Amino acid sequence: MRFFDLHCDTITELCKKQGSLALNDGHISLDRASYLTEYVQDYAIFIPDEYRGKEAVDYFDKVYAYYKNEMNKNGISEYADRLDTKFKSVLSVEGGAGIGGTIEGLYHLADCGVKLITLTWNGRNELASGCFDEEDIGLTSFGREAVKEMENLRIAADVSHLSVKGFYDLADLADKPFMASHSCIDIVDNFKAKHRNLTKDQVKIIAEHGGVIGINLWEKLLGNEDNSFDAVLRHMSEIIEIGGEDIVSMGTDFDGCDINDELAGIEKIPVLYDFLGNHGFSENLLDKIFFSNADRFFANLLFTK
Ligand SMILES: [Zn+2]
Repeated sequence: MRFFDLHCDTITELCKKQGSLALNDGHISLDRASYLTEYVQDYAIFIPDEYRGKEAVDYFDKVYAYYKNEMNKNGISEYADRLDTKFKSVLSVEGGAGIGGTIEGLYHLADCGVKLITLTWNGRNELASGCFDEEDIGLTSFGREAVKEMENLRIAADVSHLSVKGFYDLADLADKPFMASHSCIDIVDNFKAKHRNLTKDQVKIIAEHGGVIGINLWEKLLGNEDNSFDAVLRHMSEIIEIGGEDIVSMGTDFDGCDINDELAGIEKIPVLYDFLGNHGFSENLLDKIFFSNADRFFANLLFTK
């Protein structure tokens, strides 16, 4: 099978531990991904909320060097280069603080090959309020300027972790499709899920803009009691009912959160695929979810005239 995942924290975690992408005991280890015939992974460089301005840029640069080295060592090509390698990568930054608060900082990320920016993490940064900001100010004026320039640079905006007002500001401003790389829908009643999951209206708006939603496997977002296969099925079915079949993707959040053992790891993806197939999802729909919806999103972003 082929797999396109819109979010993981693997590189950021490996950089901390000086671990190897080829062989490690985290959620994503390439030795356990060898069954995939084609595998595109979005690797996020996660910027902690305590870093802002130059400190955030320096942190990005440090993890970026680790990322480049791991990609080279393992023969993983950039998705944008359209080379014929089995494993490909899309580079993203989780937390717009990685821009460093200047448009020049955005050009630096573009030069590094960043194709997706999660506008905020949980707190407020130079661009916008995050989903746990005590006062929701939406997008800042710099945030608006950055989003417009991102569209010129063919870097997509990601609303996972963004505040509610930030979401609606972005939806008003955006001329290009945007995504939620690792979120679920608000059918779960706990504090984290209330802030991190998308409302029905937000799902509808993402669909209207031609975007995608990567289903997050974090147990807190999937369900309080049931947070395994059935929960994934439930979230996907709800989202499809509102936004149609072209909107659902995977955004595992591997190596970034606690995941039910049944789903925790790249080797569990085919088990989930089979489960969904056994519960009425057609082969065509499964291919959309596990690959082609995300592929279409990035192909439109990067390769259209
Ligand atoms: Zn996240």
